[in-house]
Amino acid sequence: LQQQAPMIAHQPAMTRDGKCISIMANIGSVADAKTAIKNGADGVGLLRTEFLYLNRTTAPTEEEQFTVYQAIAQVLERRPFIIRTLDVGGDKPLPYVKLQPESNPFLGKRGIRFCLDNQDIFKTQLRAILRASHKHQIKLMFPMIATVQEVQAAKAIFMEVQTEMQQANIPFDATMQVGIMVEIPSAVAIADQLATEVDFFSIGTNDLSQYVMAADRTNPDVAMLADALHPSVLRTIAQTVKAAHQAGIWVGLCGELAADSIATPILVGLGLDELSLNSQAIPIIKHTITKLKRSESEAIAQTALTLNSPQGVRTLVATTMNHEV
Ligand code: PEP
Ligand code: MG
Repeated sequence: LQQQAPMIAHQPAMTRDGKCISIMANIGSVADAKTAIKNGADGVGLLRTEFLYLNRTTAPTEEEQFTVYQAIAQVLERRPFIIRTLDVGGDKPLPYVKLQPESNPFLGKRGIRFCLDNQDIFKTQLRAILRASHKHQIKLMFPMIATVQEVQAAKAIFMEVQTEMQQANIPFDATMQVGIMVEIPSAVAIADQLATEVDFFSIGTNDLSQYVMAADRTNPDVAMLADALHPSVLRTIAQTVKAAHQAGIWVGLCGELAADSIATPILVGLGLDELSLNSQAIPIIKHTITKLKRSESEAIAQTALTLNSPQGVRTLVATTMNHEV
């Protein structure tokens, strides 16, 4: 398998019965974008923009951000490119922003909550993204959405920035898709409502697992509990995919789970349209998909949802697929 994987890495990932799944890269720099293309990524499903903001004494300027986003877009040529707006908070302090100390940073002011409270920083980033979107296939994604009102507020600010740019005759892609991360259990519960507000979902299983299981992903004493293959997490993925498709929008998954080949038949079987993962795993995940049949994957996924432990799910996949665990 390891030897065959590079050969199909630059082909689209298609199941034996013809279902294509976009295999995208999670990146955090221009260098990562180059590696992603080398490894066969169909595009970028998640640019974590935090690297532009951390370890410095002043906020990155619009020009600085524009240069980086444009450089990545150029590396990707016409491939799709999802830029996630800033996801910092109490656990990743910024010296140039006053933040209250929080006893529960993962339950605190991070992601979109931080951006809605620091609109100067948010608007500067949106302007830089819009400028880079001119002649490139950029999509925008908001992290840590918990409510419909947050999406509406973020979109209103995005519209405001677009109007200002139009008035200043600055070109941008006015048809840019806007999506959200689904990584908070409340977003799963109201996924049908959220789906009417956006063009796509991307499920963040790293955070979703820790919030579903109430187990801090950075605390080694409990991190084992935050296993994305736990059927409770798989059920939230199933519910999100169903809500997205019923509303006619596409849905991807960009947590670490996407890079685990044991999870691949389940994710294909649950109907995900896109997987975004670290570049190293792209050849093996593409190869795994070409060995699957969608109908068989659906059966495995449905059985996985009835089990009661991640170990049970792993054994199910290993025995059905003859997979090494
Ligand atoms: C996630 O939560 O699954 C995710 C992809 O985002 P991050 O790991 O950056 O929180
Ligand atoms: Mg997250």
